[in-house]
Amino acid sequence: MNTFPMIDSHTHVYSYSENELKHVMDRAFKYGVSTIIDSSVDIASAQKVDKLSSENKNIFGGIGIHPQNLKATISKKEISEIYNYFSNNKKNIVVSEIGLDFQSNSPDRIIQYDAFRKQIGIARELNKPIIFHSRNSIKETIKILKEERAFEVGGAMHYFQSNLNIANEITHMGFKLSFAKPLLRNINLESVIKNISLEDIIIETDSAPQPFKKNRSNWTEPKDCKLIVDKIARIKGYQKDAIHQKIFFNTFNMLKNGSRWLETSHFM
Ligand SMILES: [Zn+2]
Repeated sequence: MNTFPMIDSHTHVYSYSENELKHVMDRAFKYGVSTIIDSSVDIASAQKVDKLSSENKNIFGGIGIHPQNLKATISKKEISEIYNYFSNNKKNIVVSEIGLDFQSNSPDRIIQYDAFRKQIGIARELNKPIIFHSRNSIKETIKILKEERAFEVGGAMHYFQSNLNIANEITHMGFKLSFAKPLLRNINLESVIKNISLEDIIIETDSAPQPFKKNRSNWTEPKDCKLIVDKIARIKGYQKDAIHQKIFFNTFNMLKNGSRWLETSHFM
């Protein structure tokens, strides 16, 4: 049996040019990544995500507004546009990238709370999982996830870099933890992986063009999922094939929420 394909559960590949994306995808296939979830960060990028997911069978879409991209309170027009992207294209399957981001230059917290709550509301109404972002805001993120009953649709905390206590709190609500390249260098994350159930793990690269890295071959791409899975296999002491299969089904089952048409064949 061939190894199960990998699903990169969170990227921003809409930011590549059409020509470059073709090469990015070719490299991903070569390394065993069959599927890429491309997430928007605002309404303009949602349009690009929607186009890619409708035209490319290996790309699925995440539609949502990132907390860093909020200019003002999320409007009724924006909300109805988000709904439209889901109702017009069934390959948009997660509400993403949404969440809270409390850096010094981040938008006003009131605006962020409101947008996060409203987008969880969209996810609940459509029965779509969420992929959420949380930076310097884990307490507030967990509070909102609970108050808005986001666990009823499930999903994942993306780019997980936190500690075991947080990992346990998130997974006990029923969310997956999505691990990315920090796992390759962060020893604390290794101990999180050791101490959580394999059931709770999915992978992502969060990849987007990285012009600040001079050497093009160092840009993070979906193909790097292989490095992350290999590392998880080493930490967990499992055969690579078993880990591939497990992570595939963790991701598939999470994505299938509300997508009754979705079959494993869409990813193989
Ligand atoms: Zn992202």
